[in-house]
Amino acid sequence: MTNVSKRSEDINESITLKLNAKAVALAKEGQKVYNLTAGQLPYRPPKELVEAIRGELDFLKSFQYSPVAGDGELLEKLIDYVETSRSISFEDYDHRFAATVGNGGKHVLANIFAALVNPGDEVIVFAPYWISYPQMIKLNRGVIKVVEASIYNAFEPDLEKLKELLSDKTKAIILNSPNNPSGVFYNEKWMKSFAEIIKPFENTYVISDEIYYELNYYDPRPTYFYQYDRELLSRTIIVDGISKSLASTGLRLGYCIAHEDIISAIKKIQGHTASGSCSLIQRALLRYNLNQIDEYLSPVKKHLRENSLILREVLRENQLEKCWYQVTSAFYFLMDFSSAPIIEKFKKSEDDQTDYSVQICEQLLEEKGVAMVPSGDFGLPNCARMSLVLPKDDFRDAIIALSEFLTRE
Ligand code: PMP
Repeated sequence: MTNVSKRSEDINESITLKLNAKAVALAKEGQKVYNLTAGQLPYRPPKELVEAIRGELDFLKSFQYSPVAGDGELLEKLIDYVETSRSISFEDYDHRFAATVGNGGKHVLANIFAALVNPGDEVIVFAPYWISYPQMIKLNRGVIKVVEASIYNAFEPDLEKLKELLSDKTKAIILNSPNNPSGVFYNEKWMKSFAEIIKPFENTYVISDEIYYELNYYDPRPTYFYQYDRELLSRTIIVDGISKSLASTGLRLGYCIAHEDIISAIKKIQGHTASGSCSLIQRALLRYNLNQIDEYLSPVKKHLRENSLILREVLRENQLEKCWYQVTSAFYFLMDFSSAPIIEKFKKSEDDQTDYSVQICEQLLEEKGVAMVPSGDFGLPNCARMSLVLPKDDFRDAIIALSEFLTRE
């Protein structure tokens, strides 16, 4: 009998992989499959970045260990970039901010939770949330507190609920705007109220996962609570990376900026678990002008805008307005099955609150060849996440097939 740790047993396996395997198997059998599960952009990174990588291939240092926290010059560059893109300054404080680079945003987040959370500490998460947050909190024996949102408020979390959950026990709040899986960012009014609400809780950190910051395709740009109350920056940990903004999920580079004490703790953890991240990509990034990200993403954003319009149009044509809300950022949309006729086929009674998202997604895939990610893992019942990244014509066909399925009485 295997005897694995209790901690590892408590971690959930992802349902996404199971559904993906099924989608691949169906495609092999010759069925037309519209795979809307993608968590990455189907684009090549900017040619300037590829050239920069090529330019570093002849150096021995590109293949050797890098400093644990990352190349010093790169860290300065990343801090500058965040200051400029968010219109903030880390200079205005009586302590130092520092940065650290890890093997992707996920690794950086895992380090942050390990550096902050003691057993029993409460961490507030906004649902729908990225599936890995609760697992990371559980690994560190933290206590997860969830603030929910629904399609009725376009997936903006309920701040009244946040007020109820905040206490001296709240070690951290994890914020993800623009949001995976909803594809919205929390607006200026929300961010201002959020800043006011958390202000008195001086021992609570905010982990601001901004991995999709660069990917908003409708104005205005996302803003953050710390831009409205600059004092809050001193207990904020900003997370970003190149997976989404430079379409480089496989290069594994993410970073965070925070109070130097937090960065020191992360450095200790990373030093014994992973060492510094890939030297080649770090050196290449030194040659790449991060201010080109906007220009690089311009055709990507056009594609996302067009697909978001197709989505609205096809849902309208099928009287599915109740399932629609305006997406603006990241590259996802969360389909709310409970606002569509199909839910009646699954519900056992009028007030049945069971989550049928897995069963609905399985049936959708089998019958219509449309693969989406069921929402149970995102902390919300009876929804599914779709990506907006398919080519336009395929995307339209996928949404038509999905609408036929949703409207079946
Ligand atoms: N945060 C969010 C919200 C994400 O969606 C992802 C990737 N799907 C990450 C962090 C981590 O990205 P990576 O490790 O590829 O940098």
